[in-house]
Amino acid sequence: MSGKINDNPKKYLTITFGCQMNEHDSEIIAGMLENKGYLSAEGQNDADLIILNTCCVRETAENKVFGLLGRLGQLKKQKPHLIIAMGGCMSQQEHIAQRIKQRFRYVNIVFGTHNIHELPALIDRAEYQKNQIIDIWPDRKDISEGLSVKRFHGVRAWVSITYGCNNFCTYCIVPYVRGREKSRQPEAIISEIQELVRQGYQEVTLLGQNVNSYGKDLSSGIDFADLLVKINEIKDLKRIRYMTSHPKDFCDKLVTTVSHLPKICEHIHLPVQAGSNNILKKMNRGYTREHYLELVDKIRTAMPGVSLTTDIMVGFPGESDADFADTVDLVKNIEYDSAFTFIYNKRQGTPAAGMQDQVPDQVKVARIEKLIALQNEITLRKNKLEVGKTLECLVEGPSKTNADLMSARTRTNKIAVFRGKQDMVGMLVPILITGCGLTHLEGEVIPAE
Ligand code: SAM
Ligand code: SF4
Repeated sequence: MSGKINDNPKKYLTITFGCQMNEHDSEIIAGMLENKGYLSAEGQNDADLIILNTCCVRETAENKVFGLLGRLGQLKKQKPHLIIAMGGCMSQQEHIAQRIKQRFRYVNIVFGTHNIHELPALIDRAEYQKNQIIDIWPDRKDISEGLSVKRFHGVRAWVSITYGCNNFCTYCIVPYVRGREKSRQPEAIISEIQELVRQGYQEVTLLGQNVNSYGKDLSSGIDFADLLVKINEIKDLKRIRYMTSHPKDFCDKLVTTVSHLPKICEHIHLPVQAGSNNILKKMNRGYTREHYLELVDKIRTAMPGVSLTTDIMVGFPGESDADFADTVDLVKNIEYDSAFTFIYNKRQGTPAAGMQDQVPDQVKVARIEKLIALQNEITLRKNKLEVGKTLECLVEGPSKTNADLMSARTRTNKIAVFRGKQDMVGMLVPILITGCGLTHLEGEVIPAE
């Protein structure tokens, strides 16, 4: 069935919460809907179909979704034909699906993370079925290949290489809502990237909750380093990024591979979460502070100038002042280029939610403020070190904060803004860095001789 009524194409809107993996799932949803004849809507008011692709990693993301659902309920009163679908990690949780069933009856479709490919069929059903449709699969063994993807970004392309996670960090909901880790076959990944290159993409970002455990579930014996070697051989591809890397699986072979392959960008996102062995153990992270520091040494020796970024959490149950001091000390020692910092919050069904000695909110807030101030100082200092260098940058589009400037990305994943023209989008240009702020570098393009 097509997305047309009376020859007026119907319009869809995706609203995405959370990480790049969710962004990429929304690209797949958009691709399937456009195949079905839907057009992209400008906003909520002209949409016939609104799909919420949700995240449940932190409570704030969940609260935003409930707030939005309330507002969409008002919109639906004005537009009764509007179809509202809710998918992603939140929907995958039983207690959330129950809450939608009881309190948000006007949501037409609730689907999970394992049956995105079913959405077009569910929409067909919702067009004639008044009752709310809840269709959530517990997990699945296979991977849907060959789904259409509508890339939202013209310059950077996301390519999933694994789905799910087997690590069960004690604070994290992801393994429960995304299922066990599954690797895509290398041939499927390579052909997707070859097609992206044919479309003009020069940079890909390989996605997975733990990219460096890629291949462990495949019988061929291929691992992440082998996959990178194959991808590096793809003609006309210029840059390869990957995230997220897990410190426990970043083996010596991978350090050597990423430091030798020319297309691999000099940036590693290596979440540490905490600097105290006591907390790392309670988190079930599978490495110690010493292992992590040694890994960083190896990486920096093999790749001088590499940019390192991380995720850090404060206020995990039982985190004492001394544990937090260990985190501060580690951050001072490593000097990350930047860091995402999070306040621990309870996720229903995870082991940490039931742990004793939860840290009081005001202690968590004081710790995160201290950590952010420290990291900001380091980030600014590191950005200043780039001034005077000429860096290869891929132009992505107008700057988000100043429409007069263009924005480009360095191989080390820093944003460089410069005066340039729209027709430079997609070009790799040398930029002389002349200044910087906390979140970006500033520079000017070096004209070709
Ligand atoms: N797979 C990645 C890894 O292991 O580093 C991270 C994926 S997770 C979606 C992104 C980040 O969210 C984590 O690195 C962690 O810092 C943060 N996070 C996860 N669960 C959290 C929780 N319950 N409270 C606060 N932050 C959390
Ligand atoms: Fe969550 Fe840990 Fe898996 Fe990352 S590795 S997704 S933090 S369980």
